[in-house]
Amino acid sequence: MQVIELSHPLKNHYLTILRDKNTTVEDFRNNASKLSYLLILEGSKNISLSNKEIETPLTKTVGYEIENENVAVSVLRAGLGLVDGVKDLIPNVAFGYIGVQRNEETAEPEYYYENLPNLENKNVFILEPMLATGGSLSFAIDKVKESSPKNIIALTVISAPEGIKKLEKAHPDVTLVTCNIDEKLDENWYIVPGLGDMGDRLFGTI
Ligand code: URA
Repeated sequence: MQVIELSHPLKNHYLTILRDKNTTVEDFRNNASKLSYLLILEGSKNISLSNKEIETPLTKTVGYEIENENVAVSVLRAGLGLVDGVKDLIPNVAFGYIGVQRNEETAEPEYYYENLPNLENKNVFILEPMLATGGSLSFAIDKVKESSPKNIIALTVISAPEGIKKLEKAHPDVTLVTCNIDEKLDENWYIVPGLGDMGDRLFGTI
């Protein structure tokens, strides 16, 4: 599995705002949105272009156009926090949704919703901000693979080493783009130092 950890200084700035427990819901949302642009820029580096003949005011020339083969699958609900960058930067991207929640007692993924467009032969970006045990993301990847995509690129804000290890074993063919690889999981499977519960902080349900 290819693992890419962002190194841009802006990532450090925005992520520190998310980590700070005193950050307001509004600032949390805004900075999660900003990180989504950095993640998708890196994650979309290898998507395909086709040639496009156009005329500038001066002459005919051949430019480029992104192929219409990109889909984003947001893992509910925290994945909604990463939609902005994908929607704004990837032309004609289609969106799908998978509802997986973590059983707080066992940390096992529980599946409750699915609404997916055609994924066959598409580049699929899976938006799942917190890669903790890897249960939910691995589950979402299994679901996406049932529809024979071309590539799968997972975008996460924070990844724990334990989750990366699980994904490497279960899905060596996937690319992971993450803002940061943190230290570890605590006894409740929260990422340390982390940022707490991404969904709660994003939607003000703390
Ligand atoms: N999900 C979260 O929102 N935060 C964690 O630390 C782990 C899983």
